[in-house]
Amino acid sequence: MARIDLDNLAHSYFPDPKGDEDYALRRMEHVWEDGGAYALLGPSGCGKTTLLNIISGLLTPSHGKVLFDGKDVTNLAPEQRNIAQVFQFPVIYDTMTVYENLAFPLRNRGVDEKRVHARVHEIAEMLDLSGKLKQKARGLGADEKQTISLGRGLVRDDVSAILFDEPLTVIDPHLKWVLRRKLKEIHNKLRPTMVYVTHDQIEALTFADKVVVMYGGKVVQLGTPQELFENPAHTFVGYFIGSPGMNIMPCNIDDGAAWIDGQRIALSDQQLTALGKASGKTELGIRPEFVRLHTEGQAPEGSIEVNIVKVEDLGQFKIATTRFGTTELKVKVGEDQQIVGQSGFLQFPQEWTKIYADSQLVA
Ligand code: ATP
Repeated sequence: MARIDLDNLAHSYFPDPKGDEDYALRRMEHVWEDGGAYALLGPSGCGKTTLLNIISGLLTPSHGKVLFDGKDVTNLAPEQRNIAQVFQFPVIYDTMTVYENLAFPLRNRGVDEKRVHARVHEIAEMLDLSGKLKQKARGLGADEKQTISLGRGLVRDDVSAILFDEPLTVIDPHLKWVLRRKLKEIHNKLRPTMVYVTHDQIEALTFADKVVVMYGGKVVQLGTPQELFENPAHTFVGYFIGSPGMNIMPCNIDDGAAWIDGQRIALSDQQLTALGKASGKTELGIRPEFVRLHTEGQAPEGSIEVNIVKVEDLGQFKIATTRFGTTELKVKVGEDQQIVGQSGFLQFPQEWTKIYADSQLVA
């Protein structure tokens, strides 16, 4: 398996691009480690497929290079890149048995039959296909066919990388859950370099060691699921990761604090120092999980008074919508509907209160 370097990569579908907005991918500079499980996550149109196609060789970038283990593959065709790919829809041979389908990528490379046998059985075991190896693919359901496609993608152990393009989209929700977990297990066991495109945050967070969050043709953060949750590097990451996402509110910085709708939220010395070097519109971000709502007793020091306008029961937890001035802020709570209409106090733990300038994390 290979390390993937994206060296100053950019792509425009226009023959004569004028500005940034004409680029589907804007200058990218990244190293994806050998044996890593990377998820490319972002909304529709952010450039995920464009990037995947550049890595696979289906598309030549307008600028920059792709390197596999230091070797420049930018101008190599997909078949010369030694990669495996799994697409949204099954790519299998209906007239072949499940065994023959799984064996195909190996036999195609002249792998000896003993090794083919061992590898097919290993992958079939991991994907719960062992009992179906002798069946023709034709008679199987869509979910099973896509599971075979996953198996075909995983069966070779000599590829530089395995690329997955939303492979679970057409899978039944329960099986999706199972396959996601299996892919993770397979990755832990075999350690191939995997790149997995999805717009589903749960899929990305459960599958990947590192999530590459894309927005507007750029990578806005590359980090572990925990890093994305605890320390979003861009307001988009805060908003996109989490359910509901981070509360992000415009603020003014003055007198050692952030001011929102006339309310003062104290900042740390580190934040104030970092803000000295930043420019652009400032925003304060805090996740519903980290802001604290007090509904009883005295106002804690530094807290702000709010009205509780709504409590939504989302099954596993409840989310209260609180309001001060014209600002609304969501808080994860234990209490029920009875707090609606009451006032309360919000506390902003400094560790979890993030300041952004021009959408970028300052501190
Ligand atoms: P989705 O999740 O909807 O597939 P994506 O994140 O994969 O979206 P891309 O398909 O890479 O995004 O598209 C990135 C941008 O490039 C979009 O603005 C899209 O309209 C544009 N684009 C994609 N393919 C082409 C093409 N063949 N010709 C022109 N523009 C394209």
